[in-house]
Amino acid sequence: MRKKVVAGNWKMNMDYTSGITLFSEIINMVNDEVRGDQEVIVCSPFIHLHGLSQYTKDTGKVSIGAQNCHQEASGAYTGEISAGMIKSVGASYVILGHSERRQYFGETNELLAKKADAAITNGLNPIFCVGETLEERNSEKHFEVIKQQLNEGIFHLPANDFSKVIIAYEPVWAIGTGVTASKEQAQEIHAFIRTQIAEKYDTSVAENTSILYGGSCNPKNASELFAQKDIDGGLIGGASLKSRDFTDIIKAFNN
Ligand code: PEP
Repeated sequence: MRKKVVAGNWKMNMDYTSGITLFSEIINMVNDEVRGDQEVIVCSPFIHLHGLSQYTKDTGKVSIGAQNCHQEASGAYTGEISAGMIKSVGASYVILGHSERRQYFGETNELLAKKADAAITNGLNPIFCVGETLEERNSEKHFEVIKQQLNEGIFHLPANDFSKVIIAYEPVWAIGTGVTASKEQAQEIHAFIRTQIAEKYDTSVAENTSILYGGSCNPKNASELFAQKDIDGGLIGGASLKSRDFTDIIKAFNN
């Protein structure tokens, strides 16, 4: 059966020392809370990954990930970081296709497909983000947009590679805005995504794929979102920067 997952996305926050402090607090708080069918992931800036991996060695309960990778294996790409480099410091996940990368760095579905290949080749599990803007939702294009993001960005993977992917539905209008999708809105899209996976692969692949909700998820709304049939956890931005809030969101599975 698919895993229940809570993944934190620190974005471009936390200097090295603050990040290590936050992570050690999280490790101490969640160790007793995480059940076998649950996974907790922290996606930090690149600079923290090696330091964080020193903590995960002992517990094995929290995994770490990056927030982006370059599509090429190595070479003259000044300032970039490859999937292999990320793997080499102990990370096992990478967020791909976050709306901030799509919006501010012009990442297209075509580029994201290459990044997904690089991640898989190097043993990283992609957390692949999809989601519509407010304008797209208001003009009722949200299903179409999400279908296209899946088809062009991640559905080229063969089934055995796709089984390593976590999908995150993140409506752009809910990210960092304090406006959360209602549980009905989120469930509707999650069910739609699962149907798309079943149509592309098969029902068993669809049933085994964890689909996370992201967008102003917090300790107050997490339980009702996570109680939805097709919502398998959350990708958490702002609330992942406070150990208490992040841990309370993880506990929402047990409520
Ligand atoms: C995110 O950036 O992935 C996110 C969900 O942010 P927030 O929780 O702050 O809306």
